[in-house]
Amino acid sequence: MIGERFDARRVGSEGRSWTNWSGHQTCRPGDFIRVSGLGELAEVVGRAASEGRQVTTVGSGHSFTPAALSDDLLLDISRIAGVISVDRISGLVEVGGGTILADLNRELDRLGLAMPNLGDIDRQTIAGAVSTGTHGTGLALPNISAQIERIEVMDSAGTVREFSPGSDELLAARVAIGSLGVITSITLRAVPSFNLHRVDAPMDLDGVLGDFERLCEENEHFEFFVFPYTRTALTLSRNRTGRPLAPRSKTDRFLGDVLIENGLGDLALRAAGKFRSAIPKMARYSTGFMSQSEQVDVSHRVFANYRTIRFNEMEYALPAEVGPTVLEQVLTMIEREGFPLPMPIECRVSAGDDALISQAHGRPTAYIAIHQHRTMEYEPYFREIEKIFREVDGRPHWGKLHFRTAGNLAPAFPGWSDFQAVRDRLDPARTFSNAYVTEVLGA
Ligand SMILES: Cc1cc2nc3c(=O)[nH]c(=O)nc-3n(C[C@H](O)[C@H](O)[C@H](O)COP(=O)(O)OP(=O)(O)OC[C@H]3O[C@@H](n4cnc5c(N)ncnc54)[C@H](O)[C@@H]3O)c2cc1C
Repeated sequence: MIGERFDARRVGSEGRSWTNWSGHQTCRPGDFIRVSGLGELAEVVGRAASEGRQVTTVGSGHSFTPAALSDDLLLDISRIAGVISVDRISGLVEVGGGTILADLNRELDRLGLAMPNLGDIDRQTIAGAVSTGTHGTGLALPNISAQIERIEVMDSAGTVREFSPGSDELLAARVAIGSLGVITSITLRAVPSFNLHRVDAPMDLDGVLGDFERLCEENEHFEFFVFPYTRTALTLSRNRTGRPLAPRSKTDRFLGDVLIENGLGDLALRAAGKFRSAIPKMARYSTGFMSQSEQVDVSHRVFANYRTIRFNEMEYALPAEVGPTVLEQVLTMIEREGFPLPMPIECRVSAGDDALISQAHGRPTAYIAIHQHRTMEYEPYFREIEKIFREVDGRPHWGKLHFRTAGNLAPAFPGWSDFQAVRDRLDPARTFSNAYVTEVLGA
């Protein structure tokens, strides 16, 4: 399988500093420990807590925010990984918290099972992905954390606690940005494996926005990308199918994904950074390369994309019904102000869920994601665009850049005080806080 070559752990263990996937977040942890298993984890966590230290667990380092940074103790639980138990009848699968999604997908496939929905890539760990509310697209499908049936979290005494349905602890621990303890195992509800028919097709943006609701209702997974300064969207529709497999060939994937999309794309974006006034022209030129294509493959191979272009990203979760209007406002602002944003904006949807601080808590959600090449400045543009999102009660993705703090985040999440009550019970000493957690969840 084609995958990214970034390995957060290697970077961390070889040097004194640790850097995330985008290269934008760096820290110098006091200690970086890759534990060998649960026994060592309990010992390390218990000792650190008794010394008053702060403990952060890192997954694959794919968050754009400083969520996984630490200047104290940074833990790597990649050896607590793999399938622990399976019940094929109910579809319940227990996996170690450090399991990489790509490995989980392959293992589930072998068992005749699959994840019902996935995001753009499969490099994250399962614990890291659920902790920030990672999602795919699909009006009837909630984010990955909603699949959790049970979760085991190690507290500051080194004791593993299990949280089951019906408890506030489970609703809090499903999306908690690492703030409640170390997730050691997760029991997910998987579904029987299935194939997806994916159709990529350029469409007029006005048509997509006018028909957005219908397109989301008619397709199990619908999303689109649009370059600022253009009016053509690349739509992606994925639906379950009984058709025979028609995967993309290796050559096709190499030419399309590796060489053109990522390789040439990266060169073009670097050039865009130097010749900013050419960005609108480049964007219109790029839409000329959008073409219709389709494939039928096993679900996880259709969900996951190959991404080597490093970028920074902000993504907001909005009430579903305002998605198209807000996107228009964002595009208008970018064009009016001449913001140098050469990468496409991604628009997706999801069902609401009940995790206490999930971005999609209690409402069907439209997501709008703004990307900026890692060599280019993002902050002033993201800040201006965030103002539009805030006007419609938008909630930031915990793993993607934003400029909010606990004081103004609290009113946006109806489950905030229930979450904080669980946090006070499980981690009163704030052992599992870092600077980011303190900033967004409070001290
Ligand atoms: C190229 C790219 C594509 C992406 N696509 C999507 C997408 O389609 N949809 C989407 O929603 N997001 C997407 N993301 C964001 C990404 O899914 C999230 O940021 C996710 O949290 C990253 O997982 P990770 O394993 O790298 O965790 P990290 O970034 O390492 O950590 C994230 C958080 O989880 C905590 N954590 C990690 N492991 C544990 C543990 N065992 N116990 C307790 N806490 C833990 C960390 O402390 C931190 O707070 C994408 C990111 C990139 C770089």
